[in-house]
Amino acid sequence: MRWSGQELNEESPDALPGLAKLNNLVRSVQTPEFAGITFHEVLAKSALNRVPGSSSVLPYGWTINPYRGCSHACVYCFARPTHEYLDLDSGEDFDRQIVVKVNVAEVLVGELAKPSWQRHPVALGTNTDPYQRAEGRYRLMPGIIAALAESGTPFSILTKGTLVRRDLDLLAEANEHVPVDLAMSIAVYDDELQQRLEPGTPSTSARLATVAAIRERGLPCSVFLMPILPYLTDTRAHLDDALARVKAAGATEVLHSALHLRPGVKDWFMGWLAREHPELVDRYGDMYARSAYAPKEYRRWLAAKVRPLMRAHGLERGMADPTHGSTRSRALARGAERSALTVGAERSALSLELDAIPGREPTLF
Ligand code: SF4
Repeated sequence: MRWSGQELNEESPDALPGLAKLNNLVRSVQTPEFAGITFHEVLAKSALNRVPGSSSVLPYGWTINPYRGCSHACVYCFARPTHEYLDLDSGEDFDRQIVVKVNVAEVLVGELAKPSWQRHPVALGTNTDPYQRAEGRYRLMPGIIAALAESGTPFSILTKGTLVRRDLDLLAEANEHVPVDLAMSIAVYDDELQQRLEPGTPSTSARLATVAAIRERGLPCSVFLMPILPYLTDTRAHLDDALARVKAAGATEVLHSALHLRPGVKDWFMGWLAREHPELVDRYGDMYARSAYAPKEYRRWLAAKVRPLMRAHGLERGMADPTHGSTRSRALARGAERSALTVGAERSALSLELDAIPGREPTLF
């Protein structure tokens, strides 16, 4: 581990009360390298999560989330309310109090070895980012990738983290055994706005360079152009520039959707909007007054704007998996899995706007 041997583990004497719910909490750690961030290291009891309610659309949907909370700190992040379960708040605590499942890879190996495991595709990055900064310290992903590949389980990873480059050798090797789908989330192509909206993330240029590096390794890489923010990133000029740069980076496909503001996220986002763009507060208030989704008319207007631009740039429109909002695993499009049910679901996915998928960056990220 890059950090081993350093005197960094100053245990925090005041682990927050809600964390008592984590009876598997090992310790809470602060370190100068991650100023303002506390890592709460826990021993996970399980690694694989079944996506509730997915059986009506696809046989199963499975995810792994090695971290809770995300230092990428995107103002619009859909996952913020998940922190409230720990009696932490969905604003700053989500960005700075990071729960780390330090034994996730070991637990995963045991779960994948069970005779009942049917090697259904697993999605990473559906809730919080597996390549957020903490991953530089904890290195949980190599063990997860190896365990999935060795067990014959296809998987997808959605991230904003350029740290994924560290694991490209491992991912390329895994892709020789199982389908591996990678996706980079890149929503904002105006540098100043990007830093204000996503203060803990790598720059747009760095993420595009990562897409190019992934493609150079022969791996597929989608780009999630989401969320698109009304009046901020939905101009023709911004979208055209975005798609041109995505194309130049070699992305295999693009998925887009408008901003989604679910309860627990909306207040945090609107606070930011009031500080940064007070002139837009009333417009957003009207747009998101009745629903977490942007109005249908707006989504139609946006789709009508984006599609011709995608065609003009020679970009393919990607499909999202309705069970978890991540890219659809190539595994599901293959032979045995391609049952009539799956084909039906693919058609449904095609006809869905991504922002009609709960739990993603139409959110989710
Ligand atoms: S949107 Fe994704 S990258 Fe941003 S804070 Fe949320 S989980 Fe992290």
